Amino acid sequence: MESEGEKITVTAMDHVLQRNIKIDADLLVLANGMEARKDNLELSQMFKVPINNDGFYLEAHMKLRPVDFAADGLYLCGLAHGPKNIRSTIAQANAASIRAVSLLSKGKLESLGITVQVDTELCKGCGICVAACAYGARVIDEKKRVALVREVLCQGCGACAVACPNGATQQKGFEKEQMLAMIDAALF
Ligand code: SF4
Ligand code: SF4
Repeated sequence: MESEGEKITVTAMDHVLQRNIKIDADLLVLANGMEARKDNLELSQMFKVPINNDGFYLEAHMKLRPVDFAADGLYLCGLAHGPKNIRSTIAQANAASIRAVSLLSKGKLESLGITVQVDTELCKGCGICVAACAYGARVIDEKKRVALVREVLCQGCGACAVACPNGATQQKGFEKEQMLAMIDAALF
């Protein structure tokens, strides 16, 4: 940065052009850098929500679901999401609260149509599906030693169905027979 009288010139590297550019500025405002909280990782593991490489929480979709996490019922706003000014923080907080209210106002929750189900005859209670589920939707019934599905938490990602070693978990609409029939139809 150079100044001459009231004139300020800022020199910065343009990473697209790969060369320095000079900007004549009327006003220069310095902002402190921000870092994510160190305990974000611990909290993200507790709620099974993702964080990015900088340690800030990651929304489900930048444009389509900007204040939602991938799992229903969890929302984010403000500096937890990344560095931003107070105006953006308030707008995001309003959006997150409206998303939460719209969920709570339903009175009852409906699960997705593509949740998974367990064939208890085949299930050995190994717990692999519990470890595979990023949404906390799988638990083991310790008395019966079979896996259960918390349908309202299930996002239908199919990870547990793929992980289950003996085919006890099947996803509605994507049962193994259906998948094999689709593959056969595509091949022959
Ligand atoms: S991975 Fe399959 S067999 Fe193992 S507990 Fe889950 S459903 Fe049962
Ligand atoms: S499909 Fe399985 S892994 Fe995916 S959210 Fe549902 S229970 Fe969890």
